[in-house]
Amino acid sequence: MNITRDINKDEKIVVAGAGGFIGGSLVRYFYNLGYTNIRAVDKKPVPLWYQRVPGVESICADLSKEKNCWRAVQDAAEVYNLAADMGGMGFIERHRVECLRSILINTHLIESAYRAGVRRYFYSSSACAYNVQLQKDPNVRALKESDAYPAFPERGYGWEKLMSEIFCQEYWAERGLKTFIARFHNVYGPQGTWDGGREKAPAAICRKVIEAIDNGTGKITIWGDGTQTRSFMYIDDCTLGIDMITHCDKLIATPINLGSSELVSINQLVDYVEEIAGVKLKREYDLSAPKGVAGRNSDNTFIKQMLNWEPNTPLKVGLKKTYDWIKEQYYARKQGKRTVE
Ligand code: NAD
Repeated sequence: MNITRDINKDEKIVVAGAGGFIGGSLVRYFYNLGYTNIRAVDKKPVPLWYQRVPGVESICADLSKEKNCWRAVQDAAEVYNLAADMGGMGFIERHRVECLRSILINTHLIESAYRAGVRRYFYSSSACAYNVQLQKDPNVRALKESDAYPAFPERGYGWEKLMSEIFCQEYWAERGLKTFIARFHNVYGPQGTWDGGREKAPAAICRKVIEAIDNGTGKITIWGDGTQTRSFMYIDDCTLGIDMITHCDKLIATPINLGSSELVSINQLVDYVEEIAGVKLKREYDLSAPKGVAGRNSDNTFIKQMLNWEPNTPLKVGLKKTYDWIKEQYYARKQGKRTVE
């Protein structure tokens, strides 16, 4: 992939939220590319991080506090904000205040980055920033970037994303900080949350299938009626996409979809996981569980036009890797070993 970067491999990159799924994977991605001066920051104690990359400066700090943001960005050439209090539908529908309070992280981090003379600033937005009125039908029209307005995002989480996008846009317009904004559509893969209430559909379904096999119940409970549709992006596409977007000057302060356009229903997702596991389970539908919007997909016209690329790992390929990893985690936990959750 041809990415024109204006950063040397020994200049400092700061990744916020590095103890989590995407932040941790981004640290590993830059490390593997040969960057030698990465600072990883998260509010979780370092031993609880999903990934620890050797040789990377790893700091435990709460970035909703201004002074911690200021310390975190010192000497940085680029800052990537992947820090947020978030989870799957079960979490964001029940913890709207926590989701909204993530506004503090971006507000302080972007101001600190600007004052510290950071050259490029990346913000992880979400498809939850889109107008929910456009997502009432499982046979969705894929969402294009302009569909965020008129604004009617997901309560709590979506409003925080939209407002933080505006911060990024105005820091460029008024102050000349180069900001980059990707609207992620459901990211999944190894090293992601798979249990504990914050996990998303692909990880939750893999875990439930593994549990059903292990416990011999032969049953799986699905949230909603299973007809809700989504697209799911594999983690390697996400980290590559973040790098491409942040080093494309045509995209300064311009929100862009970063998601797969392979649409599936939750029932199909279960079919795929069953196929990988080699089982067929009896399905029970929990209609009272949080299920989110009826349908959502990523319109990738703009990203293809800008980057001549779109996330392209087939769902079945990414799911197989994810399933195998969650299975390892599941049995490691049963043996009392520490795992990612
Ligand atoms: P994650 O929960 O695995 O990681 C987020 C990390 O941020 C966590 O480790 C958490 O401890 C950290 N954090 C929270 N509050 C903090 C604070 N005050 N100071 C420092 N660190 C703090 O989530 P993820 O899936 O890796 O998501 C990363 C980003 O991508 C988030 O902004 C999220 O909203 C966005 N996003 C993710 C998805 C997805 O499908 N995973 C979809 C859309 C958008």
